Amino acid sequence: MNQNRKAFIADWIKPSLQGLKPYHVQDANGFIKLDAMENPYTWSDKFKAEFAQALSQLEINRYPDPHCQQLKSCMRQVLNIPSDADLMLGNGSDELIQILAMASQPHRKIMAPEPSFVMYKMISQYLGMEYIGVPLTEDFQLDQEAMLAAIAEHQPGLIFIAYPNNPSGNLFDRDSIKRIVQASRGLVVIDEAYQIFSEDSFLNDLSQYDNVILMRTLSKVGLAGLRLGYLVGQKDWLEQFEKIRLPYNINTLTQASAQFFLKHYTELLKQAEEIKKSRTQLYQALNKLSGISVFPSQANFLSFKLKSENADTVFKALVKEKILIKKLHGSHPLLDQCLRVTVGLKEENEAFLSSLARVV
Ligand SMILES: *Cc1c(COP(=O)(O)O)cnc(C)c1O
Repeated sequence: MNQNRKAFIADWIKPSLQGLKPYHVQDANGFIKLDAMENPYTWSDKFKAEFAQALSQLEINRYPDPHCQQLKSCMRQVLNIPSDADLMLGNGSDELIQILAMASQPHRKIMAPEPSFVMYKMISQYLGMEYIGVPLTEDFQLDQEAMLAAIAEHQPGLIFIAYPNNPSGNLFDRDSIKRIVQASRGLVVIDEAYQIFSEDSFLNDLSQYDNVILMRTLSKVGLAGLRLGYLVGQKDWLEQFEKIRLPYNINTLTQASAQFFLKHYTELLKQAEEIKKSRTQLYQALNKLSGISVFPSQANFLSFKLKSENADTVFKALVKEKILIKKLHGSHPLLDQCLRVTVGLKEENEAFLSSLARVV
């Protein structure tokens, strides 16, 4: 690069950004794509024609409804949002994490157990805020003592707890979460991105707490392309965040598409049930492979550890066979030699299993 320009940029970009790398998304063209927790099902031609018809009625020359009123009332009904709670929408939960971090006092820290969802840390870094990761126990449970000690020491403004957790797939102990909430002078965000695949939720507990909000997304439910995440919480918290939400963050196509699909929510629920059944089958099949140990999951993915094989080698062998999963190895010490596979269609899961069985 031109030396002069290099100096300009180095002088201009925030120091906290200089050493960072952008979020990397693996090219998946031509692959069986089992890396990103997407719902694998497609829709009938008749359904797609109705969808296209609905979209063709939209006035794209107009700005979207900045308050998403129709969509919100549809979400309230279909997603059983408690009537005493407020709802705020984001361009994916990623945007909501960013809004929460931007609204928090800049000198207060952001905390999460680790390993967990990587965007908590990345967004803290983008904003130049200090992030504290507290290691989970060996079996991916919250280390309650370590969390309480870290809260006392760092007084974080925000604590993110993914429930179920990604990439381990488990639900943390409820009582540990309650104790963390009670010990925190900051806001605890319970991230239920995988709730549709799990057996528990904090949705109906929200009114008990002054410092808890819930975050969910339609991405893992089957609508990753729409980018629609939401916060559920007390009005006086959400009205603060609304101040920094960009006015038209949910575009017209997303608003209309989400409403269209939510009318067919029972179909999405059926798909989630199928995914849960496939998860059980995949878990049992992985459990039979002597070279790996697989972790129980309440999400639409399974993570597993290789006992003697090398995660890089196995990942690359699968890539050669056009199967893309996620290499967790290298991202955290507790994920040493670990890989993660999203539950896909039956035939995709079988292709993955037979390729994996060949290499481990
Ligand atoms: C995938 C994921 C999200 C991101 O959701 P988007 O709405 O697609 O931005 C949030 N939290 C967790 C734990 C996730 O795994």
